[in-house]
Amino acid sequence: MRRFDTVVMVDWSGGNDRGATPKADAIWAAVARPAQEVEAVYLRNRQQAEAYLCTLIAEERAQGRSILMGFDFAFGYPQGFGQALTGSDDPLAVLDWFAARVEDSATANNRFDLAGEINRAVGAGKGPFWANALRRDIDGLGRTKAEYLNPFPERRACEVQAKGSFTCWQLAGAGAVGSQSIMGLPVLARLRADHGARIWPFEALDSDLALIEIWPSLTAGPAPEGVIKDAWQVRQLARQVAGLGSDALARMLDVAGAQEGWIFGLGFEDVLRSPVPPLRNDCFALPQGVHWTPVEEALALLRDRLTAVTGVETVPLLQACGRIAAGDVAARRANPPLPNTAVDGYGFAGGRGEGAHRLPLVQGRAAAGDAPVEVPVGHAIRVLTGAALPRGVDTVILQEDVLVEGGDLLFNGAVKPGANTRRAGEDVGAGDRVLQAGRRITAADLALLAATGLGEVSVRKLLRVGVLSTGDELVEAGGQAAPGQIHDANRPMLLAMVAQMGHAPVDLGRAPDDRSALRARLDGAVGQVDAILTSGGASAGEEDHVSALLDEAGAMALWRIAIKPGRPLALGLWQGVPVFGLPGNPVAAMVCTLVFARPALGLLAGAGWSVPQGFDVPAAFAKRKKAGRREYLRARIREGRAEVFPSEGSGRISGLSWAEGLVELTEDARDLREGDIVRYIPFGNLGL
Ligand code: AMP
Ligand code: MG
Repeated sequence: MRRFDTVVMVDWSGGNDRGATPKADAIWAAVARPAQEVEAVYLRNRQQAEAYLCTLIAEERAQGRSILMGFDFAFGYPQGFGQALTGSDDPLAVLDWFAARVEDSATANNRFDLAGEINRAVGAGKGPFWANALRRDIDGLGRTKAEYLNPFPERRACEVQAKGSFTCWQLAGAGAVGSQSIMGLPVLARLRADHGARIWPFEALDSDLALIEIWPSLTAGPAPEGVIKDAWQVRQLARQVAGLGSDALARMLDVAGAQEGWIFGLGFEDVLRSPVPPLRNDCFALPQGVHWTPVEEALALLRDRLTAVTGVETVPLLQACGRIAAGDVAARRANPPLPNTAVDGYGFAGGRGEGAHRLPLVQGRAAAGDAPVEVPVGHAIRVLTGAALPRGVDTVILQEDVLVEGGDLLFNGAVKPGANTRRAGEDVGAGDRVLQAGRRITAADLALLAATGLGEVSVRKLLRVGVLSTGDELVEAGGQAAPGQIHDANRPMLLAMVAQMGHAPVDLGRAPDDRSALRARLDGAVGQVDAILTSGGASAGEEDHVSALLDEAGAMALWRIAIKPGRPLALGLWQGVPVFGLPGNPVAAMVCTLVFARPALGLLAGAGWSVPQGFDVPAAFAKRKKAGRREYLRARIREGRAEVFPSEGSGRISGLSWAEGLVELTEDARDLREGDIVRYIPFGNLGL
């Protein structure tokens, strides 16, 4: 499926000229061109809009750019209407019918008369159109739905699915869209006849100009305060559509047989809200001529070149812990929603000065969950912790500080106004951001979301990470090992690490040191996973088939990183899927996963880039170290000092198991003595 170079989204209007200054309820067009900021253009009336679009089409064509243009009105009517109106089943005949009859100028048009004419012809003067908004009566077109009779279905299939959409029969009233269609269909017909536009979904999109029906409210969200909604929404949608990959676009355009027309993106709202651009083939390429790449440079490259590849789904709160917020989340409600009392006691209005006070108590009490009642001035009421303050109450005195006598409340001042109460929204205001996009949601976040009125949250789909071991010497854990064979230790470890990091592990098994077998494994994984971790065979020897295959695929880089432990890391794209070719040695495999794969997977998953937090602690060891490379030691904290595993051998799996974190020695560190300060990163801060 091809892509379109330029995306134009138009918010149409059925009304008259809106004047020279940009306003709501006029026509707004947003244009997204490759690598350009999306602009929104104000168009005061339909004549100006049509002229603007024709010029735009000519200009884009002159640049060799194809155009996808959306309009926010129905391109078709419910089943049966077209046939009754035109005598033909071709939905395009309806467009031509209107084009031949609609009269339009900046100040007047004949849409209501035309609707009345249609009602008299196909609906005995009682429907399907309604809502004449003119001063004069029109034969066959009611002002209200009294005596309304519609011989056709009220809604198209897509309007049944699109919650909150209006019918195309209603011509006037807040939110009505019927007029827009009548006043827009002739424009579609002319763009088709005079400019070679193809109209979706009625015909094949085989020209450089395709027109689609849109409904910006489907995915655009509310405009920020002070911004015109129409302008904001078309700009959002233009951005969303322009960011779609060609596969996603093809799936959304595939609505074969929709004779009533269809709203583009319906059923794909989450995809539209988070278009996923494909990774670039050179995403792992290192600068030319570099021999040993410093760790920080390698990390900066991953950070720059990788982006989120996961889609979005909405889940209930109880399933959201550990998931990644797909967008910013705003509080639907303040916390607390109403001012309430922080203690058990008695509430009244205003503070009280020094001295003795006596206030008559009103009947009843205010407990948590009670709707606020009215308390007259000069009276007090019994209140319990968490109760919304009754109306007329803004101050509470502790029950320990009062006496109740003969229906009166007695106490000695002073009491400050507002004492012992919580202000509405003192914790979180309605509309405040409670989650930031990319946040990995915690149990505490669930409390915050619930308290601020949210029952579900939009999250990234889980990143599916395949794990594959390579090597002729490997047998399955627990299996019979012949002489010379060893058990596959990396796969169980890496699968568990992937799960602990919050992704979905996918077991891709073991592959022998054989190129075609390995190729088949990788091919089989495409479509099943979003990223792949392999271990073994990542170097440049004759049995290092992972690197050889990625090299063959043409999107590979062998990273020689100045790090110990860890030999070269082979990074590449296999049919668009990023592959991290880890060293075979379990210690190096784990360290390289924690240092390189962990932040890269986080980015692919939509969590953004994260740098692990470490702590500076005294070393409980001494060590000789060469300058110029980064080293990671298996370590743990005892008595406030970092101990390291006695052997640095990269085959010493027992040391991995012994460790509770890593000591990170930077490139410039030299020989270390006991008591020197070193950076310790607990495994917990590395996602484990
Ligand atoms: P390679 O990178 O394939 O040359 O492997 C380096 C070392 O790691 C060799 O000693 C391999 O036997 C060992 N090795 C490779 N893969 C695994 C694995 N999955 N489990 C345990 N050891 C492995
Ligand atoms: Mg090997």
